Formats: sequence, structure tokens, C-alpha cells
Amino acid sequence: MRSSLLTHLECSLCGRTYEADRLWQTCPDCDRPLLARYDLEAARRLSRQRLIGPEPSLWCYQALLPVRDPAHILTLGEGGTPLLHARRLGAELSMPHLYIKEESLNPTGSFKARGLAVAISRALELGVRGMVIPSAGNAAGAAAAYAARAGLHLYVFMPRDVPAPFLAECRALGAEVVLVDGLITECAREARRLAQEHGWLDLSTLREPYRLEGKKTMGYELARQMRWELPDVILYPTGGGTGLVGMWKAFEEMAQLGWIGERRPRMVAVQSTGCAPIVRAFHAGDEFAAPWDGAQTVAAGLRVPAAVGDFLILRTLRASGGTAIAVPDEALLEAQQWMGRKEGIFACPEGGATLAALKVLRDQGWIDPEERVVLFNTGSGLKYLPS
Ligand SMILES: *Cc1c(COP(=O)(O)O)cnc(C)c1O
Repeated sequence: MRSSLLTHLECSLCGRTYEADRLWQTCPDCDRPLLARYDLEAARRLSRQRLIGPEPSLWCYQALLPVRDPAHILTLGEGGTPLLHARRLGAELSMPHLYIKEESLNPTGSFKARGLAVAISRALELGVRGMVIPSAGNAAGAAAAYAARAGLHLYVFMPRDVPAPFLAECRALGAEVVLVDGLITECAREARRLAQEHGWLDLSTLREPYRLEGKKTMGYELARQMRWELPDVILYPTGGGTGLVGMWKAFEEMAQLGWIGERRPRMVAVQSTGCAPIVRAFHAGDEFAAPWDGAQTVAAGLRVPAAVGDFLILRTLRASGGTAIAVPDEALLEAQQWMGRKEGIFACPEGGATLAALKVLRDQGWIDPEERVVLFNTGSGLKYLPS
């Protein structure tokens, strides 16, 4: 049973449903993200062994992903990353059950590869001719890689002050780069305009349904690596929130499949104090997050002043009994070095942020030292070198 069990798309806010085998962006009614739904009843009758394929990549979950024809799968070996026991960091924090999900081993050096591998494979399947993506960081390189593999045209909209390695990577991978005088919000606006003009796909975070599906595989992998016993706490560096929302979706799907029980991890969104819209909205008790003015942080993946999926992130944090916390750039950079020295991982600043946040939450007693905690190192530190 390896073919996709995708049945339809459902709006995450208004609940309207849409045919799955047509190209959609956000909900035509309310402009919020569409979620892919599967025939989990049928899947429940099959054993886990039959549903999970032998691939070492995320494509072992093909039945629970949207690509119907295996011929459309574009792979560079994404997913299947290690869950590392952080013994030396754990010893220093007196936390014997501390783990790091090491996402920098993905193609193009970040977990963005997961989402874009799935989204662009599906785009190829649905006959897309061109694509656009606004990005000031890792999403651009990942999109460029899979667009190249698909033979599809990709326009990347980047702020003119984007760090040189991100730009060089996109160009090397054959994407058409458009440098924009302005912030990522400007880039997003221009990208969207071009996409609408030409009938191309806008790959912006949560503006099409399938990047989320790629990212949810982190949840499946984590459960499998922990022998179907989810951890107590997950710390996730949150920008657009796809990974956090995606993992939560995976947990719900796995529960419906009967693979896991009702217990869920407390989900923690970690942001930088230079751009913390989700943290502010969470503690204010708001359903949506107001845009953050003057967003500034070295952690490019966290520089998201306004997320379309804000309410999904906030719902997830609350439903899980989790929290949201912001750490200053100095603290996340220090923690990046700390992770390097202790565990041999040259983390991205976003990954460092999760460790900095862990330290605070542990000192506050919000996390108990005996709990099983997973940090996400979402990318490699190599692309953030001063140039
Ligand atoms: C994009 C990105 C993030 C944020 O991811 P979301 O799932 O959009 O919240 C975190 N870390 C890195 C390295 C990123 O590139």
C-alpha cells in the first residue's frame, strides 16, 4: 500500500473543502492555509509496516504524502535525519534525556528541503509551468535545488541585503534571482504579483498546501525514532511555523492511524527578541498575531514579522500545553557555540535559539530535568558565516 491516500483539501480556518487534484494556493474564501487530508480510515486497517516504505528518505511515508505517481518524486535524499542523544549538553544541564533532531544534514543544509521537495514534486505532478518564492534564507536554496531537478522555472525574490551565501546558492542552482529594495514582506508582494500575472505557483510558506506535508514528516520520524513514544517537550525555532504546525498534524494523523496514543509533547515556539510576534500574541492570549515592526535578527529563518499560519501556531501551542519564548540574538549565538563545543554540531543560529530557550525554561522550572526533550537544529551554521 504505497500510493498516496490523499482525498481532499480542507481550509484550516473556515473548514471548506476543495478537490485535491487541482492547483490551489490559500482558501479562495478566507485566504487562510489549506490542509491536505487523507483516507486515514483505510490506512488504519493496514499495518504500520505496510504503510511505511523502505526508503531512507521522507518518501517512506509516501502513502501519507500528496504525490500520487512515484515518477513525479524529486528527491535529493531529504529527511531521515538522525535524532542524536545530547549526552554532554545533557550532563551540563543535568538533563539525561536531551536529544537533538539534526536537520542540517538535509540537502541544501536545512529542513526547508523537506517542504520544498514535496511541494515541488506535487507542483510537477499538477502541471505547474513556473514558480516563485520570496525568501531571505534557506527556503530559497531548497526551492532552487528541487526546481532544477524538476526542470521548472523558479523566480526567487530576495531582499537586497540578503547574506551572500544564500544568494550564491540560488544562482548556482539555476534560479532566477530578483533582488528587491525592501523587506521580505515587499519580496512576498512582488513574488505574488508575478505569480498571479503568469499563472505560476507561489511557494510562500503556507500559501500552498504541500510544504506543510513535507515538514510534517519530522513528526513521523521523531515518533518512529522514539519507538512511538513522543517526547515530553519539543523546542522549535519558529518563523512561519510550518514545522511546528506540521508536526502537530503528523501527531493527529498518527493518533487516528492508531500508531500513537493520546499523549502529546508540550510544543515550544522559540523566537528572537528582535522578531517575536508569536511570543507576544501567545502571552497576550490573542488568536492571531499582529505584525512585528522593525524585525531584526541574525537568525534569518526567524525573521518573519507576519505569519499566515499564526493562528495555527498559537492553537498548537495552547492545545499542547506549551509556551512561546524569545531569546536575544547574543544568547542564541552563544548557545550556537555551546552546541558546537559540546556536541560537534555547527548549528544555525535558529538551532542555537532552541538551546538558549531550553536553558531559560529549565532554570524557571517549566521543564523538569528528568523530562525527555527534543531540540530542533533546523539547519547548518555554514551559510551564516560573516562575508
Ligand atoms: C525557515 C527556518 C526556520 C523557521 O521555520 P518555520 O517552519 O517556517 O517556522 C527555522 N530555522 C531555519 C534554519 C530556517 O531556515
